[in-house]
Amino acid sequence: NRRWLLAEYPQGMPSTQTWRMEEAPRPEPGPGQILIRVRYLSVDPYMRGRISPARGYTKGVEIGELMQGGGVGEVVTSNHPDWKPGDIAESMGVGWQEYAVLTPDSDGRGGVNRIDPALAPIQSSLSWLGMPGMTAYFGLYDVGRPRPGDTLVVSAASGAVGQLVGQLAKQAGCRVVGIAGRDDKLAWCSEIGFDAVINHRSEQDLTGAVAKACPQGVDIFFDNTAGPIHDAVMKNLANHARVIQCGRIALADKAGQPDMGERFMGHLIVTRASIHGFLVFDWWHRRDEALTRLAALAREGGIATREDVLDGIESMPEAFMRLMEGRNFGKQLVRLGG
Ligand code: NDP
Repeated sequence: NRRWLLAEYPQGMPSTQTWRMEEAPRPEPGPGQILIRVRYLSVDPYMRGRISPARGYTKGVEIGELMQGGGVGEVVTSNHPDWKPGDIAESMGVGWQEYAVLTPDSDGRGGVNRIDPALAPIQSSLSWLGMPGMTAYFGLYDVGRPRPGDTLVVSAASGAVGQLVGQLAKQAGCRVVGIAGRDDKLAWCSEIGFDAVINHRSEQDLTGAVAKACPQGVDIFFDNTAGPIHDAVMKNLANHARVIQCGRIALADKAGQPDMGERFMGHLIVTRASIHGFLVFDWWHRRDEALTRLAALAREGGIATREDVLDGIESMPEAFMRLMEGRNFGKQLVRLGG
């Protein structure tokens, strides 16, 4: 069982030095537990927060501990009455390893979910039919409250969360503007229905570009990045705008440093806008609702999805760095065992 342990807390961007691989015996499931052979590991921006000594919303990884992360795989051994070998299990408690022992009835974050391989390829449970899908669904519908005719801006628009936000917002009748860092990503966003796109890496005047793309102002800002994109969109809010603060990947290498001081308070007051910190785990009790609706939309041809897959457990650090540097195009996954 090859597994990645945290070797050091990175200063700034993680590197290959951040983790070390260990060859450990295959773990044995105890009473009530199952052993899975991992087929796909999820690579997510939240992992940056878990390898920082700073306080987050949950416990991080200690030096020398198994790196945390979600995954999906098939049951090899079961000591649980409801699970049998061959079943597919998904959990956020898998870790960066080839085999994992899971406790189905634990109340750990997200628990252990049974995946129906007939519904969609099993790795979808890590992307649009899983946590990123729920993030888009609840962040947009419940916090963003889209109305037909609203203008929505989403950052990291081609990513796991962003690609869904844009498409769901289109279906809700919004005008959708996507911001991403590469022209091929933007071309794909246009292909799947975004009304306008902005390249945050090549655009010299982001604030002006947002103003041009959103002549009536921005009613909903689904912010996956914080940083300079946030600043540019905040200056273009419409009255009563809703800002969903979902991610801060642009500030990820500043983990551990204090957040910047209060900003854009003037804009918030003038526009009477509201800004919501969003955390998908608050919505976990409505997981079935979101996934049923997303699966139905996909079946009806209503959503396009895109993955970016690397092979082999040895690729995990590289996959994570791709994400942090914007080199991924779509949901970043690592496939194990061919
Ligand atoms: P993505 O698939 O969107 O991948 C991350 C993307 O972020 C990159 O591809 C890159 O896209 C963009 N990015 C990286 N660095 C920068 C930078 N310096 N400035 C601007 N953009 C950058 O990841 P996810 O869809 O999984 O996650 C998107 C965001 O949502 C993350 O911030 C994540 O933490 C957050 N999130 C929050 C949740 C919550 O409950 N609050 C739950 C799930 C996700 P590009 O080329 O477009 O710049």
